[in-house]
Amino acid sequence: MTARLRVLILGGGIGGLSLAAALGQRGIAADVAEAREASSVLGVGLIQPGNALRALRSLGVLERCLAVGFSFEQWKLHDATGRFFGNVPTDLGSPAVPANNGISRRELHDALLDAAARAGATFFFGTTLAGLHDHGSHVSVTLSSGKSADYDLVVGFDGIRSELRCSLFGERYRTPSYTGHAVFRFMTERPSEVDGGALYFGRASKVGLVPLSATRMYLFAVTRAPGNPRLSPVTYPSRLRELLAGFGGVVAELRERVRNPDDIVYSPIEEVLLPSPWHRGRVVVCGDAAHASAPHLAQGAAMAIEDAVVLAELISGSDDIPTVLEAFMHRRLSRCRAVQEVSHTLLQAEAGVPVPAASDALHTPQNIERILSQPA
Ligand SMILES: Cc1cc2nc3c(=O)[nH]c(=O)nc-3n(C[C@H](O)[C@H](O)[C@H](O)COP(=O)(O)OP(=O)(O)OC[C@H]3O[C@@H](n4cnc5c(N)ncnc54)[C@H](O)[C@@H]3O)c2cc1C
Repeated sequence: MTARLRVLILGGGIGGLSLAAALGQRGIAADVAEAREASSVLGVGLIQPGNALRALRSLGVLERCLAVGFSFEQWKLHDATGRFFGNVPTDLGSPAVPANNGISRRELHDALLDAAARAGATFFFGTTLAGLHDHGSHVSVTLSSGKSADYDLVVGFDGIRSELRCSLFGERYRTPSYTGHAVFRFMTERPSEVDGGALYFGRASKVGLVPLSATRMYLFAVTRAPGNPRLSPVTYPSRLRELLAGFGGVVAELRERVRNPDDIVYSPIEEVLLPSPWHRGRVVVCGDAAHASAPHLAQGAAMAIEDAVVLAELISGSDDIPTVLEAFMHRRLSRCRAVQEVSHTLLQAEAGVPVPAASDALHTPQNIERILSQPA
């Protein structure tokens, strides 16, 4: 029965492609409508912690991600001068997966796109949603291309600015919350000493180094940015160089390479706190559309991939969509909230807001790894 379930995925980013792949493995060939053209991927690189790698393993793309990426076991901590002062131990690795894998967004996208295509998904690129009517028994959809079809389930993996979230839950959920912080990311050649994750703590900003492959890496710099300023890309190099000016060691060497705006991405740090449930009838939003978080745990894409794997698993066990979506919330809500809360706490801590004592907070930097070590 579930083999004939008709699923439309709105958004062919990390979560949407993961869901198409996971459903295809279970005999359900989904339709994927993606606003962008096939070849465009925005952004630089990603850190994939061990729980993301476990989910990618279930999609059959782990080996490819590890082959093109750069695995590392721990983060090394430094002060702004470059003086090493400790490691961040992690429990997210296992004999089957490393603790972390750095990977370019393009490589991850291509691996997921191939997996979804192999799994039988049909793609409509350059396509968005034009209209949707939930009849209770099914959902009638019209796409911007003019194509109309009926589906048993519509899944919005349409990202942090999800239109679907807004149309389901109202205008007040149109805009994500701005945290007052922003991040520059800069892609460059990898010096041999960048052989794992490294963090450098300055007074007004935090800098991170992430190896992405044998030859490439990215540097990120998180900083306060009151008022969410709109910056012209031509100013990116000078602004990033200014931010990095107080740092020593390898960061100072990398600063000398910061010249070309095309190598730099600037992103405001935003969050989405959509109350439960994330569905109305037969339409659900997942990934960033439902629970975008600050990137401080590097768990946003991980949570989107896990959402996809869990949803596909539940769909393959039942074709009763209301029951599936209820079970989905039960499996996903507290884990995604924990990631959001701890990511937010870490962001605030960097801004000088004291981290709550373990006894005052449900989820803390101390217990998040225990939660994420559990199956999704
Ligand atoms: C600075 C920064 C650093 C990050 N670093 C990490 C990291 O190291 N590790 C990690 O796990 N996560 C990280 N993240 C988070 C991660 O990028 C997101 O959580 C992840 O991409 C969410 O996946 P998604 O599928 O929900 O959304 P996306 O990957 O954003 O995909 C959404 C897709 O929907 C499409 N779309 C939008 N609107 C429509 C529409 N109306 N119709 C059709 N298609 C539409 C978009 O074009 C896009 O392809 C970071 C985020 C930021 C901002």
